[in-house]
Amino acid sequence: MEPWKEDTVLIRFEHLFAKDEDTQYSLPVQIDFQHLFADVNVVSVRETTLAGNQWKEDSKRMVYGLGQNQQGIMSPNVVGNQFLVELKPMEIRTYVGCPAPKEGMINVHLVPHSHDDVGWLKTVDQYYYGSRNNIQKAGVQYILDSVVHELLKDPNRRFIYVESAFFQKWYMEQTAELQQQVQMLVEEGRLEFVGGAWSMNDEAAVHYHSVVDQFTWGLRFLNDTFGECGRPRIGWQIDPFGHSREQASLFAQMGYDGLFFARLDYQDKNNRMQKKTPEMVWYTSDSLEENELFTSVLYNHYSAPPGYCFDVLCNDDPMIDDQQSTDYNIKTKIDTFITWLEKMAESYRTNNLILTMGDDFNYQNAVMNFKNMDKLIKYTNARQSEGSKINAFYSTPSCYVKAVHAANVELPTKSDDFFPYE
Ligand SMILES: [Zn+2]
Repeated sequence: MEPWKEDTVLIRFEHLFAKDEDTQYSLPVQIDFQHLFADVNVVSVRETTLAGNQWKEDSKRMVYGLGQNQQGIMSPNVVGNQFLVELKPMEIRTYVGCPAPKEGMINVHLVPHSHDDVGWLKTVDQYYYGSRNNIQKAGVQYILDSVVHELLKDPNRRFIYVESAFFQKWYMEQTAELQQQVQMLVEEGRLEFVGGAWSMNDEAAVHYHSVVDQFTWGLRFLNDTFGECGRPRIGWQIDPFGHSREQASLFAQMGYDGLFFARLDYQDKNNRMQKKTPEMVWYTSDSLEENELFTSVLYNHYSAPPGYCFDVLCNDDPMIDDQQSTDYNIKTKIDTFITWLEKMAESYRTNNLILTMGDDFNYQNAVMNFKNMDKLIKYTNARQSEGSKINAFYSTPSCYVKAVHAANVELPTKSDDFFPYE
């Protein structure tokens, strides 16, 4: 229990026994708020999702494609007509404004992102301000400065941000005018928060109470600052070394619609890429009803495809489209890109691909990234007039999840951990 807002407190109860673990202690328990506190008169109680950022009755999560013939293995509260009614994508405000995938094409969702560790080789403040750059060239304040500037130039551009510790620090330093522009970017889905906890926590060596607490803290900042539009719907655990079923369960309880990660055992990954099983429905708990989570394994770690990192930290060539230049390279760049995508498409079940366009502390000079991605998208799509079936656009993880969900394909399931990680 902790003080919350005005005259309210946040309180959590936890049932420590699993379903069928014990004949007596696994039974449901009733708690009476009125008799809980000796000196407090409770006037109202309202339940939220796990991290306290949404009223429980407002929480609507996607239910995932298991195909018609497998509906029986879904939990009883999500089958039948209720399942169909609840899942209309337009009911989810965050998703309004997603680029529409094209029928009969491979739809490539470019997701510009920066992975910003909240303390690793440098301290949090050294990372934020970009000091001690001899240790690592990383200054998060410049990432957010330049990304917001580039987003404002073109409404097609998108960016996701993950670590609320950095975002909060940066946002507080901005003028009221810029804060208002950021609010607009968030409302229009051009800047989307994913993850949204104070930092991207490890999953192997943490206690789940700390995980819930640090999500509560980060999500509360987003809620207070951006309201419903700032509420992350996608888990983004791209750097933890292995993944726990419990973390996935927490995401389900916190109202998230999907989870992306990069690090799983290399043999498991190879196998999944060969067998078209990098995307699945994760059954996250044997006891809880809120127990499914769409989960997607990223294809190329969380990096851009090799040769397409247009960042100040990378050495890949830019897109050079002046045909008079001896360095003109658009034909080769697009040929190689399309070949890569066609290979990638062999591993996934829908006609959508998610391309992470970013890496550790990328976008400190976002003009380089966006200028070249603009051209990459433009010249890739120009090939459609010659019969290419590749359709590329700026997108976000929630737009990708929406598109995969709408494709309604049958997905494999998973019900244990992604440990050990090798
Ligand atoms: Zn990291």
